[in-house]
Amino acid sequence: MKRIALVTGGTRGIGEAVSIALQRAGHDVAAVYHSNEEAACAFSDRHRIPVFRWDVADYDACAQGVALVERELGPVGILVNNAGITRDVTLHKMTPAQWWEVIHTNLGSMFNMSRRVIEGMRERGHGRIVNISSINGRKGQAGQCNYAAAKAGIFGFTKSLALENAKRGVTVNAIAPGYCDTAMVAAVPQDVLQAIVAQIPVGRLGTPDDVARLCAFLADDAAGFITGATFDVNGGQYLG
Ligand code: NDP
Repeated sequence: MKRIALVTGGTRGIGEAVSIALQRAGHDVAAVYHSNEEAACAFSDRHRIPVFRWDVADYDACAQGVALVERELGPVGILVNNAGITRDVTLHKMTPAQWWEVIHTNLGSMFNMSRRVIEGMRERGHGRIVNISSINGRKGQAGQCNYAAAKAGIFGFTKSLALENAKRGVTVNAIAPGYCDTAMVAAVPQDVLQAIVAQIPVGRLGTPDDVARLCAFLADDAAGFITGATFDVNGGQYLG
């Protein structure tokens, strides 16, 4: 059935692929971005997907943003919590700002966004929430205490929210992508990237579509028996 799908960070990288996959599956998609207006407008023109600008780390902004999307498109039936950032530095050099920015954006956003849609989903007896975590939330990563902590927190959040809403037709799942070819990974130095690819058994980086296809399936009405699960999409790099 056609739903309204809201994708945070839905204008670039993995989120862009998720937005397109959900549109192809027949849903009406709204994509949220933060500051890259140019990329968001180009994305919107290319795919005829409306874009909305707000900071997912800000609860009030999420409340206003979700209300606007629901006024313009209708009640949100699918939420993909994808927006995320890195502020990589070892803990002994990390500033409080680097810690909290990542925690608020990558983990706080799970609360901020889910809180604004969950009551409606419960009332309507249907909902799909997909949270994008990371391989580094599974295994840890030097230089990413902030990021790994936020991404690991998503697993507990996902399982708890899934249990709270299982009887209401709302499923909540997490995807833990490995390294994918996006702007976030382009920021990794070349020699580090080569060493990472050498550790991936399938021998390549992931693509945004590798993640988006699974996301679209989890968002489908047919995936109603799958909830509280975490799916690794990492080319075999971590089999925890
Ligand atoms: P990108 O950096 O390519 O895109 C990030 C998107 O999130 C952009 O649309 C950006 O908006 C948006 N965004 C960032 N911060 C905010 C905010 N505060 N409020 C609203 N939107 C925001 O990221 P990727 O596609 O690489 O990553 C997507 C998700 O996948 C992230 O959660 C990331 O942690 C996770 N992931 C990525 C991996 C990878 O290898 N790429 C591996 C494992 C997990 P704008 O364009 O305006 O900046």
